[in-house]
Amino acid sequence: MNLNTPVRELKGVGEHKEKCLQKLGVYTVRDILLHFPFHYIDYPQIQPVSGVEPDRIMAIEGTVTSAPFHKKIKGMDMVTATITDGTAHLSVTWFHQPYIKKQLHAMENYIFYGKIRNKNGKLTMDQPVIYSYESYEKLRTTLQPVYHLSKDITNNAFRKLVQDCLPCIDQLEELLPEELCLRRNLLSYKEAVCQLHFPKNVDEMLAGRKRFVFQEFFKFLLQMQAAKSSITKTQFICKDNNKIMNLIEKLPFELTNGQMKALHDILADMNNEIPMQRLLQGDVGSGKTILALFAMLHAHFNGYQSAIMAPTEVLARQHFESFIDYKERFGLSFSVYLLTGSMTAKEKARTKELIKNDSDCLIVGTHALIQDTVDIPNLALVITDEQHRFGVRQRETLSNKGMIPHTLVMSATPIPRTLALILYGDLAISTIKELPSERLPIKNCVVGTGYRNTAYEFIRRQVEIGFQAYVICPLVEESEAMDAADVITYAKHLREYYVGCINVGILHGQMKPSEKNRVMEEFLANKIQILVSTTVVEVGVNVPNATVMMVENAEQFGLAQLHQLRGRVGRGKAQSYCIFIDGKNHKENKRLEILNHSNDGFYIAEKDLELRGPGDFFGIRQSGELDFTMADIYKDSDLLKEASDEVNRLKNIINDENHMQYAWLQKMIQL
Ligand code: ADP
Ligand code: MG
Repeated sequence: MNLNTPVRELKGVGEHKEKCLQKLGVYTVRDILLHFPFHYIDYPQIQPVSGVEPDRIMAIEGTVTSAPFHKKIKGMDMVTATITDGTAHLSVTWFHQPYIKKQLHAMENYIFYGKIRNKNGKLTMDQPVIYSYESYEKLRTTLQPVYHLSKDITNNAFRKLVQDCLPCIDQLEELLPEELCLRRNLLSYKEAVCQLHFPKNVDEMLAGRKRFVFQEFFKFLLQMQAAKSSITKTQFICKDNNKIMNLIEKLPFELTNGQMKALHDILADMNNEIPMQRLLQGDVGSGKTILALFAMLHAHFNGYQSAIMAPTEVLARQHFESFIDYKERFGLSFSVYLLTGSMTAKEKARTKELIKNDSDCLIVGTHALIQDTVDIPNLALVITDEQHRFGVRQRETLSNKGMIPHTLVMSATPIPRTLALILYGDLAISTIKELPSERLPIKNCVVGTGYRNTAYEFIRRQVEIGFQAYVICPLVEESEAMDAADVITYAKHLREYYVGCINVGILHGQMKPSEKNRVMEEFLANKIQILVSTTVVEVGVNVPNATVMMVENAEQFGLAQLHQLRGRVGRGKAQSYCIFIDGKNHKENKRLEILNHSNDGFYIAEKDLELRGPGDFFGIRQSGELDFTMADIYKDSDLLKEASDEVNRLKNIINDENHMQYAWLQKMIQL
């Protein structure tokens, strides 16, 4: 066995498991070793049965009062038992696990670990994992890794695979020079891999994480530095702003000052042989899309092609439809093509062929698709929406055949200035500070779970007068590892609550793109009034008729992400509301109070940076922000600065033609 051994050759991996692993991007032993946990469970202390609380994952010790009872309900196996530790009794239930009846003996003592539920006023524990006292205490002394997996591979099975691959760890190559690791107090690559999978304690895990976070920042900044030194000229010079200026008159609204200023920046950049490399930063709802369209039309009027890439198919489709609407409003005849993953191979091929032969068209699609559609011969402008870091890379992937397009990166995640200077070192920045004047500020509240029913009634009234609502849950499905609301269970509950009068839809990342599109279209058409979703709606979705955003377990999200979510409402003329539910029912949650009192994304970002420390690694990782895999620019801002200092030390070497002699450096840049 070596690092390149296919997973199929490992013990316990058959055809089906191999497929499941491949779906996760895991093909070889190396991939297994580098598939890190996203979360760790610190097993809870054993609690007395009298102290159980609903909706919490708990461990209790108890004696089984009599032989477990097995029955079948609608073909489903169900085993129930009653346990007690002398303080109280609790009923426990297992589904689909008939064998439990044989495992569990009357009058014997076990540890039960699982979620407490309130079933019609009676507390029970569902699907608990059973341990002996000794084995549970052993678990308590280590951190248990939790991996992102599909439902056909259990966490334990994956852990076993990692264990089996451990002998190969010695073959992993170090990527950083030893003196750098010493100077920055970083573990070696191998040590870090080991400690991320099997940390004995939190400190070990953090040390492993530190190494990879540093490496991720370092690589990113190195690549940025290297790309900066290779800027060449573009042949796509776009002149004559008049046509664009005339279109402004035809808009149904007046552009804000910020929009006007940013538009002038963009048009000026495009009229230059040094290609545009600009970040357009504007708070959610500040109106960036129309500027993107203007930039694309500017390329079109000059006889060139342009493309806009969105992170999700839903967003791409939305841009496409709004461009078509504008086309009619403006009375223009440009062609615009949509390229998305849910199109059939035939449709894709046909569209690509059309694009190839349409020298001044507009192209809308997802990142992945546009990037492999390299045959866009006259591509003068590439816009990435809702993403930060692509700016740099784009030129490399899309500027084939020596053609260098202008690039515009649009982002609604305001970033604190100190970090922006490091992260956007290679970009010019335009910032839209204000929102369109017709908007009413969103009304916020931060409340405990006891407020839920009041919120449901509030939503009911909003729906009755014709508006719509989002409810955000951190998880897709129920999880034994995390104490948080999930979309599936929640939607079921809401459907029962509003039975007969309100349609409740669901949206999450594990749905097929075509299904997601269908749900979004139904929500847009108000056929669905309440959309229960994970954070997939956080980026860019525009449904102006939605006026309520309710976020469950708000305490588990980062402030910037919550601000993004809130940006899904308040997009029309009506008053909008945001309800943050604090699942932990804190008296006063400092972080959530910031959101409660400010709607200003830039202010929130600064505060987020102040309040987050490297310690709070649990909870849900920020997503859709900057697409680092492990690093978080807020939590890890100190490491970002360290990495930036290291890159600065190397600046001269990187920009020197002879940097090739530093093999490790070259490798990092190309990685
Ligand atoms: P974001 O900056 O978050 O991408 P969008 O571009 O999606 O925001 O714009 C949000 C909504 O605001 C859209 O419906 C858009 O038509 C509208 N809009 C854009 N600019 C203005 C403006 N100056 N005045 C009024 N409405 C505007
Ligand atoms: Mg947008």
